[in-house]
Order: sequence, then structure tokens, then C-alpha cells
Amino acid sequence: MAVVSLRGEVTELLRELIRVDTTNPPGNETRAAELLRDYLEPHGVSCELYARVPERANLVARIPGRGDGPSVLFLSHTDVVLADPAEWQADPFGGELRDGEVWGRGALDMKGQVAAEAVAIASLAREGFEPSGDLIFAATADEEVGAGFGAQWLCETHPEAVRADYCINEGSGDRIELGGNPYWVCSTAEKMSAPFRLRVHGRSGHASMPNIADNALVKAAPLIEKLGAYRAERRLIPEVVALAQAVVGEAPSSADEALSRAREVSPVLADLVEPLLSMTLSPTMATASQKRNVIPAVCDITVDCRLLPGQTPREAQEIVRGILGDDDYELEVLEAHGGTRSPLESPLWDAVESFVERVDPGARAVPICVAGFTDSHWFREAFGTVAYGFFPARVMDVEVAARLIHSADERVPVEDLELGVDWLRHAAHHLLGS
Ligand SMILES: [Zn+2]
Repeated sequence: MAVVSLRGEVTELLRELIRVDTTNPPGNETRAAELLRDYLEPHGVSCELYARVPERANLVARIPGRGDGPSVLFLSHTDVVLADPAEWQADPFGGELRDGEVWGRGALDMKGQVAAEAVAIASLAREGFEPSGDLIFAATADEEVGAGFGAQWLCETHPEAVRADYCINEGSGDRIELGGNPYWVCSTAEKMSAPFRLRVHGRSGHASMPNIADNALVKAAPLIEKLGAYRAERRLIPEVVALAQAVVGEAPSSADEALSRAREVSPVLADLVEPLLSMTLSPTMATASQKRNVIPAVCDITVDCRLLPGQTPREAQEIVRGILGDDDYELEVLEAHGGTRSPLESPLWDAVESFVERVDPGARAVPICVAGFTDSHWFREAFGTVAYGFFPARVMDVEVAARLIHSADERVPVEDLELGVDWLRHAAHHLLGS
């Protein structure tokens, strides 16, 4: 590829990546990994493909460190969620460039960042950048489903390839205005997703004679109501304290104060803060009898449950038992992912701050705990990596972006892509420069 500008380079690479359909399931990420390898190697970046099954490869590229500096990982995933072309104004796998935006599934989540990370490491390599420690780029499979082909599998089976002191991943990076002042949010922590199943027991019988049975569906109803009405105790986590301190000017003394102060500044800040003050419970699915005329002996309720970083599923179970009392039910945690955090003060944080100062004088970087989870937790858990979600975006409005992710007409402004490359190169120089 003839190098015109980093902006042109990242735009063309993203368009090519979007044209490789990596809808997960089934994924088929190997084609994306090969495309990235074919792009990187001519620039002098060595690449390795790691695959649990041949069609689902992860790419790991590296500029080896010249000394004993820290290692830095640019992390990303190449799979995307399903796109229904009937809902789109453009071909979701066309990679069309329209009015300064690249259209297609994955433009925001997260092939745009994949392309920016690849262009950042390629440009550094061809400039002769010699990092003090390893600079690593990993484009992993299977983030959206998490069936064990991507980041988790890499950390477990090839730790030497992806172990890093610092990691830059997806998660946030938007420029937002709060109370008239500009802020850039960087996610340093994530809530834990720990859904559970509530199984309510009764006794089956013919529906024409309800008195001889014990209807599990009817018994479940008041339990569902109790879960739906529950408002968990609020507590202050360090990320909320730091966020409030930066925006309001002083640290809140309680969770309630943090929320009321946030409301005074702006509704956007209140929406950001509220889910970070407590665990949440949302009953979302129910199954009981499979036949209209059979009274169910069992009713299963699935409950979405999000915990604050540091809270455990065991703690949540005790809270749920306290809400429901000792009825005829069993609780089973279905899975538990995320719920990890990295320190708020670190050389990586300094890199974020100095970047924001450079591109947006007067604006401030603020930490955030995100309600969802990303692959960052695998690296924090396996290696103690300081991992932040930060990919800067200032052209596209944060609310517009939130609506487009996993939805129709996903697209990214070329200017934000260019800014992303700039950020990653800044971070590499800041952390690994001489
Ligand atoms: Zn993603």
C-alpha cells in the first residue's frame, strides 16, 4: 500500500476490514487476521497467528523492546455482531466512504480501533521507533460471544505472547461536555455481569383442577415483584469519587451526595453516575409449563445482575436471599464476567492526560467505571495488567455513537480514526520512548 497519510491509511485499512464479514457466530476471524498480517509485515512488524480452530485465528504483532522498559499492548477484537441489511441505508459489509465517514458493521465496535492500532504500530515500525519494552498489537477473535476462542484462550494458552504491563482497549474515550466544560472519559473499571437463575418449585397437576397442584408460576410472581422493586444500597467507589472531584471540584461524602451533585451539573452526568453507585437486578426471562393444560412444577426466572467492582456473586446471592426470604426456590449463578479495575494513577493515566492536554487544551481526562465489560478483565486477572478503555472520539456525538453500536447504520468519522492513530502513537512514545 502506497503511504499517503496516516488518515488515508487508516481509512483504507478499515474499509478493507469491514468487507471481511466476521459476524460472530460463526466469526471466521482468520481472514481478518491474515489481512492485518499482510498489511503489517511489509512495514517490518513481525506477526504471529494463534488459533484454537483454524478459522478463528487471533493475530499478535510485536515490535520487540530494546531494553527493560514496560510492555504495552494495543488490544482489539476483530469479530462483529449480526447486521440485517434490510435495516441499513448502506451495505453493512461494503465499507463505503460517505461524507467523511466510513460505514459498516464494526466501524465503532471495533474495527475502527483495530485499524488505528495496526496503523499506529506499522507507522512506528517504519519510522524506526525502538521501544524501551515490547510494543504489542493483538487483534483477537470472539469478544462478542466469548466462547473461548479469543482473549481468554490467548491469556491461558499463550501468556508469553500477550502478557503486558499496560493495555489500551475499547470501552470509552468520548469527549463530553458537562456543565459547559469539556471532559474526555477513560474507562478504568468495569461492573461485573453475574446473571443468576431463580428456580421456583411447586407440584404439577391438571390445569382443570388447580387446587390439587401447587403452581410454580404463580409462586414465582411475588418473588419477581420483590426483585423488580429492590433498590440496592448505594456505595461510593473510587472511580465515582475521582469523577465527581474532577467535575464538581470536591469529593462527595456519600453516594447520595454524589448523585445529587451530578444532577445539579447535568442529567448526562447523573445518568453516567447512577448505575455506578450500586448493584442492579433485572428479571428478564421466565419459563414454566410447556403445555397450556399442565400446571408447572418448576418455574425458572433469569435475572440480569450487575455488581460493582469488588463485589462478589456470593455477596449478591446473600442479598437476593435476604430480599426473597426462605421460600421454595434455588439460586444458581449462571456466569460471572468482568468486575475488575485498574489503578487510577499510573503512567498510562499520565499518557491519557497529556494527550488530552495536547489535542484539547483546557479539557480534562476523567475516569469512569463502565456498566458493561470488555476483554480487559482477562488481562487484569492473568497478569495484573493496567488496562484502560480509551479510544478518543470528538466528532461523533457520544449519544449518536451509543445508538449505532450493535445497531443499523454503524459508521465512524474519518477524523476520529485519525485522532485514534494519533492517541496510540502518543501513548507508545509516552510509555516506551527514550
Ligand atoms: Zn467491542
